[in-house]
Amino acid sequence: MNDTTELIQTIARQVMTLAQATLSQQPEAPAPLNLAWIETSLRDLLRQIGAEALSHWLSAAQHTPEAERPCDCGGTLRYQRYRPATLLSVFGRVTYKRAYYAGCVCGRGCAPLDEQYALQPGQVSAGLSELLTLAGVELPFEHSQRWLKGFLLFDVSENTIRHETHTLGQTQAAHETEWRQHSQDPAWLQAHQRTPEPIPARLYGSLDAAKVRIEPRKPAEKHAEHETWRDLKVGCWYEVEPVPVRQQSTRQHAVTERGQLCQRATHIHYYCDLTDAKAFGELMWASGCAVHADLTRELVFGCDGAAWIWNLITTYYSQAVQIVDWYHAADRLQRVAQAAFSPGETRERWLEQTTAHLWEGRVTHVIQACAMLGTPCPEAREAETYFANNQARMRYDQYRQAGYLIGSGTVESSCKQIVTQRLKCSGAQWLVPGAVDTAKARAAWLSGDWTPVCTQWSTLPLAI
Ligand SMILES: [Zn+2]
Repeated sequence: MNDTTELIQTIARQVMTLAQATLSQQPEAPAPLNLAWIETSLRDLLRQIGAEALSHWLSAAQHTPEAERPCDCGGTLRYQRYRPATLLSVFGRVTYKRAYYAGCVCGRGCAPLDEQYALQPGQVSAGLSELLTLAGVELPFEHSQRWLKGFLLFDVSENTIRHETHTLGQTQAAHETEWRQHSQDPAWLQAHQRTPEPIPARLYGSLDAAKVRIEPRKPAEKHAEHETWRDLKVGCWYEVEPVPVRQQSTRQHAVTERGQLCQRATHIHYYCDLTDAKAFGELMWASGCAVHADLTRELVFGCDGAAWIWNLITTYYSQAVQIVDWYHAADRLQRVAQAAFSPGETRERWLEQTTAHLWEGRVTHVIQACAMLGTPCPEAREAETYFANNQARMRYDQYRQAGYLIGSGTVESSCKQIVTQRLKCSGAQWLVPGAVDTAKARAAWLSGDWTPVCTQWSTLPLAI
């Protein structure tokens, strides 16, 4: 047994003695005590011990104060005294004492310990901030408050959770601004060409949009229903990997049975914004540079594209392969069949034949089949235009041969994950900045860019 284990055991015995002496005396203690109550009470006791330990750690993490230190303004600060400060940490409220300096001509004061560890007195600690944001990107703020209390055992206000989540979104936005500046700087782009980082041989991209309900600021605007829905644009970059046989769903298994590649998206990076197509194009280019989309040998876009989407792709990545998501294209035929025929054999046969044509890349046949249903069926007429406009993006036979993923639903699911699951919770209404910050925080979480963004403001190691 090493020293640490021994020490932990000694402390554990002391904690148990303390718990037995204090907890069982509490008026709300059930009789007889049950395990759930013991666990929660012990957890709360350990939390209080943690708060004390953190307080001591912080108070001890400073040297004997010097009498004077230089001020940022060029003047001189003088040591005043040890001054207490409070922090909301993962253990709850923590008070610590740190040397405080003042007396400069500029009137500013300074606590070097706060600067050293990026502590913000009166605010949330880095560790707690990460947990609050984790809840804030997953649940409506008013629900995350209750949910968090179950884990943390103390109250954090809904506003604090909202504030931390928004702050993370803003940090993500600041990263994006930095990428944007880089991606428009010829010198940076030139150096970027020689990046030592690995460049994926084949990279995929997707774009989509979903509506978010924005609450008008002025009461006068409230009756204008159409103004309250805004398009949140979402994009993602991803690579593709084969799905191991044992992880395949029934549908994927059928794909393998037919002798096709069964693939799925991996290493997905999301980005999003509530903005016009032009600004979103810049973000697409910038985030693309960050994942080397501009350097990859083969770039493939799989979308169910509105015109603005294909226009942006053509503008920024003219060499990329453009593919209309297979499931969307096939679904279009399904809808035509349902509109044009009554249920039965004729409908099934039409659908089977046209889907087979589409699968084999014979889009002309599909267009003809829709045209023949023609005038009496608006769905068929619209589908005819849709297939004609996207003909060059539906060479599914060639795409399959090249091993491209022709329908992953990646972006559709990213819209669902970012927008529907979080921003469209029942009764959810947003102001633009809150919607954008929350969506960006959620995109960072889903992308796995989380830790670097979270630790952005507390990069210094908290060690003595
Ligand atoms: Zn000064």
